[in-house]
Amino acid sequence: MAAGLRDGRFDGGITLIGSEPVLPYERPHLSKRYLLGTIARDRLPLRPAAQYRELGIDLELGQRVLDLGIEERRVLLESGKTIGWDILCIATGSDARRLPGFERALYLRELPQAEELRARLAAVDSLDIAGAGFIGCEVAAVARQKGCQVRVHEALAQPMLRVLGPDAGAYIARLHREQGVDLRLDVESPPAADLVAVGSSPRTQLAERAGLAVDHGIVVDELGRTSAEGVFAAGDVTRFFHPLFETRIRVEHFQTAQRQGFIVGHAMAGKDEPYREVPWFWSDQYDLNLQYAGAGLPWDETVTRGAMGRLPFTVFYMQSGTLVAAAGFNDHHTVARARRVMEARKMVSAQQLADPSFDLRRVLA
Ligand SMILES: Cc1cc2nc3c(=O)[nH]c(=O)nc-3n(C[C@H](O)[C@H](O)[C@H](O)COP(=O)(O)OP(=O)(O)OC[C@H]3O[C@@H](n4cnc5c(N)ncnc54)[C@H](O)[C@@H]3O)c2cc1C
Repeated sequence: MAAGLRDGRFDGGITLIGSEPVLPYERPHLSKRYLLGTIARDRLPLRPAAQYRELGIDLELGQRVLDLGIEERRVLLESGKTIGWDILCIATGSDARRLPGFERALYLRELPQAEELRARLAAVDSLDIAGAGFIGCEVAAVARQKGCQVRVHEALAQPMLRVLGPDAGAYIARLHREQGVDLRLDVESPPAADLVAVGSSPRTQLAERAGLAVDHGIVVDELGRTSAEGVFAAGDVTRFFHPLFETRIRVEHFQTAQRQGFIVGHAMAGKDEPYREVPWFWSDQYDLNLQYAGAGLPWDETVTRGAMGRLPFTVFYMQSGTLVAAAGFNDHHTVARARRVMEARKMVSAQQLADPSFDLRRVLA
């Protein structure tokens, strides 16, 4: 967002305030390469400190904002310091959802928690994980690769069921079981959990206290404008209007946080161009690279290109005959093309989607 402000030719002062005492970093590594030990800590930052200086962005790290000061146009930090503002952007992200009864378990959201998990993986022989969503499945894969016995307890009938649906979910279940994970599905409450990974929720407390419109996320329009004049919001914490899907969506993924944040930075600089890209994310588990394009909206039909379970293959999700999402399993080219089809609002039939010899770029011509 701050980079988007400068790119939009904003020439005033910019202060980036964050409660974590380190440079902003790529959180997705925390459940993958950083946990596995294949990327060093100094490779995690999004950009080096010098780049913030070049962009004229002042960093206030290790500083929690206690109050946005909407009336007086001045935020209050935990240290007692106040910082005045003309325009404000809230990008407080999301937090790991807590599981009642497991408050003392580990939750993975920030670097120190990843470090604790890494140390634990090196010291223990077995790990119980509550939740077979993306983070739970990724950690299970790393733990297996490190030789740990892994039990995963999931409340639903398949891993990642809500996003992928029952068939692709069943494939993910098979993958983990083949790798030796003891996957327990339809579990009402796990008997044990070292790590709880049962989803996340938007950190809206500051916005709520400031009286902004909040509805499972800070409510913003396609430019990131909140209900208060001069106050914007970006990233995981927002529920934003998406012109393509013609509804408000909340996305908890890295690429969307970056791209939508950049567009909000532009809007803050006075350059109005709505974010209209189809959200996209990836997940790495063992040798599987899963890529998904779509907004997680309801679907009434799925179509598989290739054979379900035999890599590579892609599952398409359709609503009333319109493509609304695609999940590719080691098949990123197909997902990238499907994403362009959705962005161009082109019609493509189930038959064309199912046919591996039909190049999706043909409907874009
Ligand atoms: C373990 C893990 C793995 C992930 N893997 C993937 C993946 O593979 N692919 C993918 O697409 N996405 C992944 N994600 C999601 C992705 O990281 C998020 O979508 C992205 O980080 C959202 O960016 P954000 O800037 O909106 O929020 P965040 O990254 O959550 O940043 C918000 C920041 O605001 C700070 N903050 C909050 N409240 C205050 C306050 N009061 N004062 C000051 N600072 C405050 C927080 O400490 C935090 O540093 C993963 C997330 C996690 C945790």
